[in-house]
Amino acid sequence: MTEMEEAAAAWARVKRRLRAEVGEDVYTSWLARLELAGLEGGHASLSVPTRFLKSWIEAHYLDRILATLRSELPVADSLSVLVRNALRDPSAVARRPVQLVGGSEERPVASSPGEASRPAPAASQPVDERGEITGAPLDARLTFESFVVGRSNALAQAAAERIARNDSGPALYNPLYLQAGVGLGKTHLLHAAGNAARLGGRRVIYLTADRFMYNFVAALKAQTSHAFKERLRGIDLLIIDDVQFIQGKTMQQEFGHTLNALIDAGRQVIVAADRPPNELESLDERVRSRLAGGLVVEIAALDEELRVGILSQRLAAVRVAHPGFEASPAVVSYVAGAITTNGRDLEGAVNRLLAHATLTGSAVTLETAEVAIRDLVRNREPKRVRIEDIQKLVASRYNVSRSDILSERRTAAVVKPRQIAMYLSKVLTPRSLPEIGRRFGGRDHTTVLHAVRKIEKALDGDTVLSEEVELLKRMLQE
Ligand code: ADP
Ligand code: MG
Repeated sequence: MTEMEEAAAAWARVKRRLRAEVGEDVYTSWLARLELAGLEGGHASLSVPTRFLKSWIEAHYLDRILATLRSELPVADSLSVLVRNALRDPSAVARRPVQLVGGSEERPVASSPGEASRPAPAASQPVDERGEITGAPLDARLTFESFVVGRSNALAQAAAERIARNDSGPALYNPLYLQAGVGLGKTHLLHAAGNAARLGGRRVIYLTADRFMYNFVAALKAQTSHAFKERLRGIDLLIIDDVQFIQGKTMQQEFGHTLNALIDAGRQVIVAADRPPNELESLDERVRSRLAGGLVVEIAALDEELRVGILSQRLAAVRVAHPGFEASPAVVSYVAGAITTNGRDLEGAVNRLLAHATLTGSAVTLETAEVAIRDLVRNREPKRVRIEDIQKLVASRYNVSRSDILSERRTAAVVKPRQIAMYLSKVLTPRSLPEIGRRFGGRDHTTVLHAVRKIEKALDGDTVLSEEVELLKRMLQE
């Protein structure tokens, strides 16, 4: 098989797995039209026919798609979603055979802003020539020295560091389970612990969930699963990142066996996940309780002081390569106030400031900082939403025109979007029901009320619809 054929076959498996995981409804609504457009240097480009699908997938399914893709196609380490040219979309061509001018709109969007700045470690073979399991490489820059400690992560940091430096004596709190949302420093701490333990001469294996699965599958195929397990037991510290992605009956069982074998043999295990052990639905009860049986530490949202600390640390790191680059304390404090999400976005902000300063050749001021990070800042103040914008967005989502929505037509294809638009007008604007009725082609306020009630009721049981309405709300408020 050529590389592209292999990628295509892997992609077909990814889609099958996604379908099985998310269920038929969600799959058909959101993922069925996702295609693999290209694979270059470990970066996979996926395409969808509409901007709407692109935003939706980016908001909800990027991590899951990437994890599944990585486990099927280990060379892929990042991905982006593009809107494909309408003419090249086979389903669109079938619907609209006579379209002469196709406005192509291929705008790659990095899967997350900070990711671009750290080159992904080279994909190493899970099992080397001597049959030793090598795991994934550790990033030498992710150390305890470069990890800024604050109130929200102090306990996690202390636990990880104690374990990493505990080069004699029995395992401490085993396993250590780090739990935190995206970008709060889990991977950083895991690498830091791995790096420090290695410096202390201990044998460390760092695996991501998909690498764990891939390693195991590869070993099984080579019929060395016994040897594989023996070797796992021959290490001092096993680190597994993002265990929420371990899936499939065999994989969970093997994960359970490995965990038990290591812990019973007194080997240290550290894992990280985005949720507490009892919420790892894909793992069975015994594995969950084993995971919960060590020390579970949560890293909470970064407070302002910690954000300032991380920003200063990143700026100092950047200055090593760009000595002229400066950001005043006022700029740092502005960015720390504006970006409250996570470390990844803070890192993204520093990269943007640097790009801005390098491109314009001028120092970063508060004004330029504001422009540079604008796209990273989630506007907390709900924006004033106009009924007209609601009608336009909903119409484009459901492939009808705005005049259809305002018209008297009563076909289902028009009625549903009309009701959704009325509902959104009620919840997102301060307009009264009669006023909304007037703006929807002069309808009576009871019609609006009926629509609002109808949608409210539907939202209650229909998760696809409620996710959809949530996204429409977000898009309108952004
Ligand atoms: P997670 O694995 O929890 O999603 P990461 O460890 O990848 O998060 O962190 C995202 C980015 O933020 C990384 O670049 C990381 O170095 C940085 N970061 C997060 N927390 C800290 C911290 N306390 N000190 C320094 N950098 C941090
Ligand atoms: Mg991580």
